[in-house]
Amino acid sequence: MRQSQITHWCHQIICSQAPKGGFYIDATMGKGNDTLFLCNLAGEAGHVLAFDVQKDALRMTEALLSAQGVRERAELVLDGHEHMNQYAKPETADVICFNFGYLPGGDHRIATAADTSVEAVNKGLGLLKHGGMMSLCIYSGGDTGFEEKEKLLEYLKKLPAGEYTVIVNEYFNRGNNPPMPVFVFKNI
Ligand code: SAM
Repeated sequence: MRQSQITHWCHQIICSQAPKGGFYIDATMGKGNDTLFLCNLAGEAGHVLAFDVQKDALRMTEALLSAQGVRERAELVLDGHEHMNQYAKPETADVICFNFGYLPGGDHRIATAADTSVEAVNKGLGLLKHGGMMSLCIYSGGDTGFEEKEKLLEYLKKLPAGEYTVIVNEYFNRGNNPPMPVFVFKNI
């Protein structure tokens, strides 16, 4: 399965679980594919907040959303996702989407990092509504290394089961450090 197919699969899960027309956060904007997906889920009534630390990501996302006629549905923020609590109120988000790593085709050194990623997930959980969900696509190996994946899984493992349901998916028959899609549901 290619990365884009994984993204598609994560989107399918989100669509099956999340309400349409809500408030969604894309924590890692990149080229804007997840932001576009969330804008379509938002429809006319909903709203999307998207973060990245690279101006290039904002430029590409802006162009994609404009071309698709949904630009007005999203607020694009040039800031680290570890500050997302400064841009949204607690328990207001229906979905928060993370796609960790670096911008494909960009500078691999500008990538998400273990400590800020854990901080962002922690802050994101505070912004999620009860009944809301977080989708995380975690990469490892190569330029990415393993620290981020290990620290994220360590953090997620300790979330109280009464408050959160954490589903970790893995490729069972594939080598070369395949990506790991994870879903966190904030219990009602
Ligand atoms: N969702 C994207 C898409 O649809 O194209 C792919 C995201 S890409 C794998 C990861 C992105 O995370 C990169 O664009 C990178 O600049 C961004 N990033 C790195 N550190 C970040 C941080 N602290 N906060 C927000 N974004 C960050």
